[in-house]
Amino acid sequence: HSPLDRLTFGNSFAALPPSFYTRLMPTPLPAPYLVDTSAGAADLIGLDPAAFADDEFIQAFSGNRLLPGSQPLAAVYSGHQFGVWAGQLGDGRAILLGDVAGNDGGRLELQLKGSGMTPYSRMGDGRAVLRSSIREYLCSEAMAALGIPTSRALSVIGSNQLAMRETQETTAVVTRMAPSFVRFGSFEHWYYNNQHDALKTLADYVIAQSYPELLDSDNPYQALLAEVTRRTAHLMAQWQAVGFMHGVMNTDNMSILGLTLDYGPFGFMEAYDPRHICNHTDQQGRYSYQMQPQIGHWNCFALGQALLPLIGSVEATEEALKHYQAQYAAKLDDLLHAKLGLQTRQPDDDKLFDAMFGVMQASHVDFTLFFRSLGELRQDDPASDTVLRDLFIDRAGFDAWALQYRARLKAENSQDQARKLAMHATNPKYVLRNYLAQIAIEKAQNKDFSEVRKLLQILEKPFDEQAQHAQYAALPPDWAGALEVSCSS
Ligand code: AMP
Ligand code: MG
Ligand code: MG
Repeated sequence: HSPLDRLTFGNSFAALPPSFYTRLMPTPLPAPYLVDTSAGAADLIGLDPAAFADDEFIQAFSGNRLLPGSQPLAAVYSGHQFGVWAGQLGDGRAILLGDVAGNDGGRLELQLKGSGMTPYSRMGDGRAVLRSSIREYLCSEAMAALGIPTSRALSVIGSNQLAMRETQETTAVVTRMAPSFVRFGSFEHWYYNNQHDALKTLADYVIAQSYPELLDSDNPYQALLAEVTRRTAHLMAQWQAVGFMHGVMNTDNMSILGLTLDYGPFGFMEAYDPRHICNHTDQQGRYSYQMQPQIGHWNCFALGQALLPLIGSVEATEEALKHYQAQYAAKLDDLLHAKLGLQTRQPDDDKLFDAMFGVMQASHVDFTLFFRSLGELRQDDPASDTVLRDLFIDRAGFDAWALQYRARLKAENSQDQARKLAMHATNPKYVLRNYLAQIAIEKAQNKDFSEVRKLLQILEKPFDEQAQHAQYAALPPDWAGALEVSCSS
């Protein structure tokens, strides 16, 4: 008898026609060992964390042993990569185990990432290295704690088996969870292969499974595009507001549920520069911070193109897409007002925000520290912004902006203490800075998994002071500037 017994697998995706996937077994992972597990993710599927101690857990989530009812498969999809049609891609190293009951009444799919070759592996080896697995695991859970829609991560299981990247690295398997892993590229696949029956089958499946409320609309496919567009616009606003950069916003990495999906060379903005490119492979900066909202829109257009045969007309497709800019702007406006602790709307708020980003950029101010410290500012106490002011090289620029900000606070009769509490509940103190991930990875590569554990625990409460961990909220050390992350994973 094991706590895992309560996971009863179905696989709704497997009920789709066989052309949507290939059934196959994960490739066994030699001598697997537990790296880390997320109790928060386990809770979503009613799994008792006691299960983590069980060898059966390691066997199941390394892909070495199937749990009852599991029908593993790799799904096919295509996509646009860096703006160019790439043709067929698919789960090249991910294997869907099936879906289990979530504690909210819905179902969650469990997917192994790094569990061996599939018919969609192309030139790849089907594996994921420990480094990128830890990054995906930590960031999935960190984003969830920040309140940003994302796939979740249940566990990282390591192995001494090696894979060749820039150097040889050990491999690992991450178990990811989401209500669906269908991507924009899943629709593009059938559109560009001129298989409109399959396209309709996929759209009907996604609507029935994830958007049943859209069945009532006159044109459910148009309604699907409109809702995915809205969610994507909101997701982009949430990314911008926290300084998250995805790094590879190809259409095959865009979730049909509007979740953050496929963590690779992501980063959190540190020294503020809207042109920042977090993915070393992205030389043109297509996926730079400032491009993300626009690329989100471009990706929705790609989805719209793929759904056009179902929606029926260009006009109806454009209608579904046309609110993206306004939805993005409205969400970002809400988030910026919250980040600055502003409760009312004033005509010149846009100017205040623009001026703020201007002085932040001029001094390359640390994004997370800036907003967190801003919460400490008191209207009538110049000493209260010492820490904040010290982040700026251009002190005069900061002082000029702070005058505007204080005047703006007075205009709405802002209460310092209440505003600080509200701001600290929306401006995280702790984010997954690349260098923090790097320290945890290097220790893990030496079989010390304690830093992964500690970092996860800190990132699970990103808004809490956690004074004993204050160094995790500090400016990055000099060596962090030389860190590069790329598509190699
Ligand atoms: P990504 O850039 O990580 O979103 O991956 C793009 C495509 O390459 C997807 O189809 C992945 O499944 C595939 N892929 C990436 N790395 C590997 C690998 N090591 N082995 C097999 N397929 C891979
Ligand atoms: Mg991907
Ligand atoms: Mg991938």
